[in-house]
Amino acid sequence: MYDLHVHSTASDGLLNPEELLVRAEEIGLKGLAITDHDTVHGIEEAYAFLTTNPLSLQFIPGIEMNTELDENEVHILGYFIDYHNSRLLHRLEEIREARWDRARKMVYRLKSMGLAISFEQVEKLAQGDLIGRPHVARALTEKGYVFSVKEAFDKFIGKGRPAYVPRYKFLPREAIELIKSAGGVPILAHPGLLPNAELVYEIINLGIAGLEVYYPEHTPQQIGRFLQLCQQFNLLVTGGSDFHGTGRHESRNRLGCSGIDVNEFNLLCEYHHGKQITID
Ligand code: AMP
Ligand code: ZN
Ligand code: FE
Ligand code: FE
Repeated sequence: MYDLHVHSTASDGLLNPEELLVRAEEIGLKGLAITDHDTVHGIEEAYAFLTTNPLSLQFIPGIEMNTELDENEVHILGYFIDYHNSRLLHRLEEIREARWDRARKMVYRLKSMGLAISFEQVEKLAQGDLIGRPHVARALTEKGYVFSVKEAFDKFIGKGRPAYVPRYKFLPREAIELIKSAGGVPILAHPGLLPNAELVYEIINLGIAGLEVYYPEHTPQQIGRFLQLCQQFNLLVTGGSDFHGTGRHESRNRLGCSGIDVNEFNLLCEYHHGKQITID
């Protein structure tokens, strides 16, 4: 099994890349992709660890870019990206700064509502590169203002709630283009979480290379439908657990609970290989 969707401490996961790799090896995974939100810093850490601690599993460098299309949250995965690509790194740095400003604004709003969390606390919870609403939610939980991350979203920082601040605007088209320009393979993450099928078609038309068919929250019917779409549009089939360490849907998103087999993985590799050769 190849689990191609996992988050580390470089974004909002609770385990660092080393811990993820060791755990993946322990449970017998053949491959693991670290796909942090909008950052590639976990990849460097993973490679640094692997040079001194060779494992039998295959490590795949990845990313999950958070984008938005017509107010809908759309996540684009990128596999085999060149994590030194300067255009990619420059854009990620812009996104990082925008996220930092946004987190400050959310903390300010919460404070003015009488919820005394500090930006330092949120920053500490973020640990790595990416700061986001999950970290703000954890800070609220730590201070006892809410019982769970979910309650923090439902009451305060979910869309339309009083301390919600919109994210920087980044379009799926841009993410797909950026991933391709960094030599990566762009895949639509968890299409089953999108509100309607038209959106899936729209993103297919933007030049996505594949769909994340296997995902813990997908129903058997959805999996069937996405497999059909992949055949119809000649798209790659991928899958992963979206493991974050703990927290939201922890029991559902166990490491290795979802993924692809070696045949599907080989097709992804072949596709990437072909793209490398034809790059101009
Ligand atoms: P951000 O990118 O900072 O807006 O945060 C989005 C992330 O928050 C998503 O990727 C989810 O992991 C998490 N999230 C979104 N909605 C909820 C929710 N209702 N409950 C718990 N976590 C959520
Ligand atoms: Zn996440
Ligand atoms: Fe996602
Ligand atoms: Fe994810």
